[in-house]
Amino acid sequence: MNPNVQRSLILIKPDGVQRGHIGDIIGRFERAGLKLVAIKMVHPAVEDVDKHYALTEEWMLAVYEKAKAKHDAEGKPFPHVDHVSYGTAIKNGLMDFLVSAPIIAMVWEGEGVVSIVRKLVGATEPASAVPGTIRGDLSHDNYALANAQNRPLRNLIHASGTNDEAEQEITVWFTDVELQKYEHVNDRVQYDPSWFLPKA
Ligand code: ADP
Repeated sequence: MNPNVQRSLILIKPDGVQRGHIGDIIGRFERAGLKLVAIKMVHPAVEDVDKHYALTEEWMLAVYEKAKAKHDAEGKPFPHVDHVSYGTAIKNGLMDFLVSAPIIAMVWEGEGVVSIVRKLVGATEPASAVPGTIRGDLSHDNYALANAQNRPLRNLIHASGTNDEAEQEITVWFTDVELQKYEHVNDRVQYDPSWFLPKA
């Protein structure tokens, strides 16, 4: 077993489920050699989303700065001045969106899984996400349209941003007994140093 194994919490949001991308998204993580340890379809409750997207100062600022940086880079004016009202509106939109329909919640394991999954998922704004990524391949939504329609970006998927975030988010969607402990062939093929070496 790999002692550095980490976990990431993934949600396929209502747009990903409705557009029939569940299999494709799961396949991309399988293809990367990651290990699925929990999965379920759930129709989120208000409390689930509230815990998952905690409306902290840090989160509101990050959401605001990311969208502003994109507008600045394109030389377009960013009409919002207050990160609190901007972040709060996005959180409220995420709440309405995620409680509206079933989603898929999953936990994946692997060496450096959080950053590997973020790489496969791509940038927050699908229009900027590079080809080959989930958001870049499967959506073309953008900040301007989402903001003009006063809704969150429809970017198909959530993936934990850090290891600490992953551990906290896993507790929102799964109990301990739902996290499977089992041997997967990748435990050997990817991490066992004695696997496939020539016999002495
Ligand atoms: P990510 O999902 O890439 O980690 P964030 O944590 O910054 O992105 O934001 C959470 C979710 O909120 C995003 O996936 C997206 O659906 C929505 N969102 C974030 N920023 C904006 C924005 N400026 N306008 C509309 N929706 C946004």
